[in-house]
Amino acid sequence: MKYLSTRGDTTPRGFCDILLEGLAPDGGLYLPTHYPRVDAATLARWRGLPYADLAFEILSLYVDDIPPDDLRALVRKTYTREVFGTDAIVPLKPLGDGLYLEALSNGPTLAFKDMAMQLLGNLFEYELARRGQQLNILGATSGDTGSAAEYAMRGKKGIRVFMLSPHGRMSPFQQAQMFSLQDPNIHNLAIEGVFDDCQDIVKAVSSDLEFKRRWSIGTVNSINWARLLAQVVYYFAGYFQATKTNDERVSFAVPSGNFGNICAGHVARMMGLPIHRLVCATNENDVLDEFFRTGTYRVRASAETFETSSPSMDISKASNFERFVFDLLGRDAARTAELFGVQVPQRGGFTLAPDEFARVPSFGFVSGRSTHADRLATIRDTWQRHGVMIDTHTADGLRVAREHLDPGVPMVVLETALPAKFAATIREALGREPERPPGFEGIEALPKRFTVLPAQVDAVKRYIETHCA
Ligand SMILES: *Cc1c(COP(=O)(O)O)cnc(C)c1O
Repeated sequence: MKYLSTRGDTTPRGFCDILLEGLAPDGGLYLPTHYPRVDAATLARWRGLPYADLAFEILSLYVDDIPPDDLRALVRKTYTREVFGTDAIVPLKPLGDGLYLEALSNGPTLAFKDMAMQLLGNLFEYELARRGQQLNILGATSGDTGSAAEYAMRGKKGIRVFMLSPHGRMSPFQQAQMFSLQDPNIHNLAIEGVFDDCQDIVKAVSSDLEFKRRWSIGTVNSINWARLLAQVVYYFAGYFQATKTNDERVSFAVPSGNFGNICAGHVARMMGLPIHRLVCATNENDVLDEFFRTGTYRVRASAETFETSSPSMDISKASNFERFVFDLLGRDAARTAELFGVQVPQRGGFTLAPDEFARVPSFGFVSGRSTHADRLATIRDTWQRHGVMIDTHTADGLRVAREHLDPGVPMVVLETALPAKFAATIREALGREPERPPGFEGIEALPKRFTVLPAQVDAVKRYIETHCA
């Protein structure tokens, strides 16, 4: 399998060539040259497989530059009961009326990002060792992504993580999760500023090409193809659990921000998984819902981006969205480059032509938006009727899922985080503390390892220099 860019660069690249890269050189995103179709016999065979073996089968279709035995060992080491809590890895919880929650949040940081990031950590370590290289991952976080990256990269050979977070602004639980890591390759840098300051510093350091090359600076952002590919697997696993035969169809509802998670659903559907609808759920930051209702994609300014109680979906532009639009446009790279390379930067967005927008339903997409009041009501209702406590992001998904139920078609809502991470909203909804999974009791009292730095690019550069030697 080779990979191309959504903006037209067709230089043939293998999976491992793009594994450690971000954007393609022309500014586009990498996609496989085609989506392998899974025939009925293959789908039937996959139904009985344990999660790690299913992951191996799916990854093998897209990865031909890692020997199969090595790839199998990497996925087996990743998707274990020890790391994800159950043998099913992503068990379904029935909520009645054909509705299910798919549990994706039982990894080390209690959010679905572990599903992909844990694999990425093992792939990075493997590929860096093969090349005799090192990588210094630099990132900024307001919570979820940073901790998922740190837990995936802790103790990995050849990798260091420098994670910037706004000093004193993360929740006590999030701080405890990240700062209690004692691994010497993990560096928590608490920046005296807000999240935007952290992000600006990362951008400034990354655009200093000389510094970047000298210190092998890389990232683990959500546009990484390997992350997306890892997420394709749990759509198949969810489908098999919600159905008895492969003649049935299933819909998925996905709490969305950067469009990474639901884009993996799109890939699964393109491979032939019988997905009826892909329900894109947003919170008050409804860039994506607006697009699916109107055909207009309008990036928001930071002043127009709301801070909500489902903070991991507070995005102003959806960084993976270009992948779907490329497919929607029949893989017309020139048109994609015009929309994302010219119209988005110059005019802040675009409106599709009517004939282009008319193709959306054939890709299964529908959408909806949810508000703080909806989240509270959904969390309360799910607790009272089913005795199941859900987090705020999953509540957005469930709320919008209920608007798109079709009789006889199971609806699987992806649970993207556990309520323990969002205690304040759970207290507001239920008047009680969220459940904490075993092993997370009292983590706030663990010793913390972090360094406070001023919001200055030079301070961060100097820290990196002195800790890479
Ligand atoms: C990252 C995240 C999302 C959004 O996922 P995308 O892939 O960016 O669409 C939703 N919920 C939670 C809890 C997250 O951490």
